[in-house]
Amino acid sequence: MSTRSSPRNVLATKSEGTSDAVPVSSNRGSGSGIRRVVIPEPLAPPSDALAAALTFLEGVASRRMCREELRSWIDRNLVQPGYMARPWRIQEPLFGALPADKHCSAFLPEIPPTDETAAILVRTRARVVGHLRGLRKEPVDDRFLSAAIFAGRVRRVVVGETMQWVPRPRSHDILSDIVTSLFVSDILGRREFYAQNLCICDTCGRVRFDPEPPQRNKCFFC
Ligand SMILES: [Zn+2]
Repeated sequence: MSTRSSPRNVLATKSEGTSDAVPVSSNRGSGSGIRRVVIPEPLAPPSDALAAALTFLEGVASRRMCREELRSWIDRNLVQPGYMARPWRIQEPLFGALPADKHCSAFLPEIPPTDETAAILVRTRARVVGHLRGLRKEPVDDRFLSAAIFAGRVRRVVVGETMQWVPRPRSHDILSDIVTSLFVSDILGRREFYAQNLCICDTCGRVRFDPEPPQRNKCFFC
């Protein structure tokens, strides 16, 4: 699908020579003990949930996302995989404090867009980025993870022989909770990946993954 390609661009590739050295046993009897072999380890491609969530954030940031695009994004990434029923209305409170608001006001325009969908989208993106910023805080603020679990917006299901977290937002949930559930299902499955690679720009709120960024709180453009 075309939407799968763009999020991959935000995943930086780990450069060779900087990877973790993996201890490998040398041939028996050599007496030299352990030999160290460097194996390049590029970042794995994003999960479908992460790719969908990043597509949303990028689409809003670049102003490509409009009402129709939002509708088809929801269809493609949430309705068709069976994660939620098609919502009859998209909603997001434009005013009032939500828990993540203190982390997200930096990413809201000074003057909200007059178009209602655009206003909902920028507000949603700011809240979602605000949640993710909590993971970069000291101490970590990851209450949005337990909030999503307790609200039932993510579920553990058996896939093959393993348990896996999947998004399960409801069609009447606010849009930021729906988008956040995609991130939460991914984060719960691989918390370390986020701890090691998550970068969020303090200026524009761009979210990307890079194992060795010059700075975790700056993007290429700011
Ligand atoms: Zn930036």
